[in-house]
Amino acid sequence: PPLVGVLALQGDVREHLVALEAAGARAARVRRPSELEAVDGLVLPGGESTTMVRLLRTFDLLEPLRGRIRGGLPVLGTCAGMILLADRVLDGAPGQQTVGGLDVTVRRNAFGRQVDSFEGTVQVQGVEGPVPAVFIRAPWVEEAGSGVEVLARVEAADPPGDPGAGEAAGRIVAVRQGALLATSFHPEVGGDHRVHRLFVAMVTGRQAAPAAPA
Ligand code: GLN
Repeated sequence: PPLVGVLALQGDVREHLVALEAAGARAARVRRPSELEAVDGLVLPGGESTTMVRLLRTFDLLEPLRGRIRGGLPVLGTCAGMILLADRVLDGAPGQQTVGGLDVTVRRNAFGRQVDSFEGTVQVQGVEGPVPAVFIRAPWVEEAGSGVEVLARVEAADPPGDPGAGEAAGRIVAVRQGALLATSFHPEVGGDHRVHRLFVAMVTGRQAAPAAPA
């Protein structure tokens, strides 16, 4: 099985390790450049995006990670991880930097103006049936470039019972662009591992792909 890393500088690392193993991958924490070098795919977990970028720099991982993303490394970014993958951030900290690679504009803490956290379900392209979705001070995708596939949107009634739900309805909360997959919500929470399966299939598919002609 493929070796999938979870960036383990900050955030909810354990849950992703468990979900990846359940989805058929070998899972390992990534904290050093040599560990990043070794993985076939990588998860950027939820947590705090400004802290994570700072730690990526401190641990000399920011440029190596950008390099591997340019080289086609499959990456799943969830919540803060989605922010890290985004090329552009709204409502970020002053001068907030990202890793980048995903041609989207995300709005940070987008639902927070109405409600901090909520749980719902979303329909995700490539996954059959509703997927439980936990949103915790989550971003949404405000704009997606033409090369970005929209995989999920907020349903009309979310956040449940909130008068601000109208503003959230229809917002983009899962996207894919090539080897990059990102969700606003936390697919590692709640024991449904189908989003991780989708990601592990992306990693495996890439491994199985014939080498590009030189
Ligand atoms: N609000 C956090 C950030 O901006 C993300 C929250 C999360 O990952 N649950 O980084």
